[in-house]
Amino acid sequence: MKVGTVALFGRPNTGKSTLINNLIGRKVTITSPKPQTTQIPIYAIYEDEESQIIFVDTPGIFAKTKDERSKEGNLEAEEVLKNDVDAVVYLVDHTRKRGVEENRVIGTLRKLSVPKILVINKMDIKKPSYIEQYKFLEDEFDEVIEVSALKEMNLKAVIDTIKKYLSEGEKFVNTEEMAIPVMNFDSKMYIEEVIREKAFLRLRREVPYHITVYVDEITEREGKDLTYIKARIITIPRYQKMIIGQGGSKIKEISSMSRKELEVATGRKIYLDLTVESV
Ligand code: GDP
Ligand code: MG
Repeated sequence: MKVGTVALFGRPNTGKSTLINNLIGRKVTITSPKPQTTQIPIYAIYEDEESQIIFVDTPGIFAKTKDERSKEGNLEAEEVLKNDVDAVVYLVDHTRKRGVEENRVIGTLRKLSVPKILVINKMDIKKPSYIEQYKFLEDEFDEVIEVSALKEMNLKAVIDTIKKYLSEGEKFVNTEEMAIPVMNFDSKMYIEEVIREKAFLRLRREVPYHITVYVDEITEREGKDLTYIKARIITIPRYQKMIIGQGGSKIKEISSMSRKELEVATGRKIYLDLTVESV
């Protein structure tokens, strides 16, 4: 079995989520930000009969300057890349002009000795195209693949190329033993965990420690091919307003992020009815 970890990165909106979604489809495994079996932030796991590819996140590689990152004492993107990955996939969007990020990325990539795969996305769009501006990247990479993540063009080439660089070994993660069941949608715990995660991402540090998420109902609406989920965030009075946000903006955001993730994980349309209560 071919196994390994791959860091997927790229500027916001280049299509990382779309790529992962369509590469892995219904097999997608989405985990909480907490590391499970490893020290690395797992983003998704691709599995087939002969391979297991673990896609990892490179937190904040673009969001912040290096100084800001080290100040926070977070896991450095560079550290993740250096120690824990067998290959990197760098995604660019040729319909947008090259940015300063590209130079920064090259600086980071030059320090790595792992195989580097450049994936040029959105090839279904012909105009505008700034693909010429990205050509200089090709020298830095071992492979260049042009795809459309959205239209699922050439995605198999991405997996096949990654596989070339993986080594033989045992499965790295036993997905059957993961805290979050991959596709077992009966699990209320899983849904609660997704909502907690989104709340965690959207709320100030201390707030998530004062919430509990309950899923009250999961109903398949067969005729509509829709899964209805009723869930509640329970908190103390102090935080209720904060979680709801101005005109409900915060809870809407948490709800919408959770719904999207559940839809990716299950391949189903979800209606998420999420409310906030205080005790
Ligand atoms: P991320 O921020 O890198 O995760 O990017 P997303 O996956 O969220 O995609 C950003 C936007 O680009 C979304 O509106 C996608 O539908 C769109 N997008 C992603 N891949 C493609 C593609 O191959 N072709 C086109 N036309 N749009 C794409
Ligand atoms: Mg994304």
